[in-house]
Amino acid sequence: MRIVLMGPPGAGKGTQAVSLANQLGIAHISTGDIFRSNVSDKTELGLLAKKYMDAGEYVPDSVTNEMVKHRLAEPDVQHGFLLDGYPRTVAQVAELDVILSKLGAQVDLVIELTVDIDEVVKRLVQRSLQQGRSDDSEEVIRRRLEVYQEQTAPLLAAYRARGVLKSVSGMGEIEQVRERLAQLVAS
Ligand code: ADP
Repeated sequence: MRIVLMGPPGAGKGTQAVSLANQLGIAHISTGDIFRSNVSDKTELGLLAKKYMDAGEYVPDSVTNEMVKHRLAEPDVQHGFLLDGYPRTVAQVAELDVILSKLGAQVDLVIELTVDIDEVVKRLVQRSLQQGRSDDSEEVIRRRLEVYQEQTAPLLAAYRARGVLKSVSGMGEIEQVRERLAQLVAS
């Protein structure tokens, strides 16, 4: 199964993606995690990505697409994958289509995690206190939410039109959301 998990920053994508991918026995691919590990290893990609991430902006499509193309060529994705944080732009949707069509495959399911914005800001502020992520300052949080609305929210309509979009509420306890997602993929 090939799944895309979408939702604004703070919707809980990362947390839920890990358990959902485990449940289904598929690879969990988080572009945010890949960027962050490159930043901490100080690779060339990491140095480039950091500038954008710290400002709450998206890393340029050319860079992100190239990275995902390589990741999706690895053997562990053959049984399926859960993409977390990709695609986030129209150009990324197009690239993912190209990558998958070469494999004779397509996205089977796009899950939108919905949350209200006040809740999201609260969660992100909390996370910044606990984890000290450099892109979790209030100003950057606001910018990330804006970028999501401008560039990523429109992708939902495109996937809805393809008939692959399902929305799940991300509100409530982590365990409740996990259960909702588990039921969705089982149905
Ligand atoms: P969040 O969803 O909370 O913003 P992520 O960990 O998914 O956090 O991403 C952190 C940052 O990494 C983003 O703000 C962005 O700068 C960069 N990033 C992650 N995925 C992408 C992507 N698909 N395209 C461009 N930039 C990305």
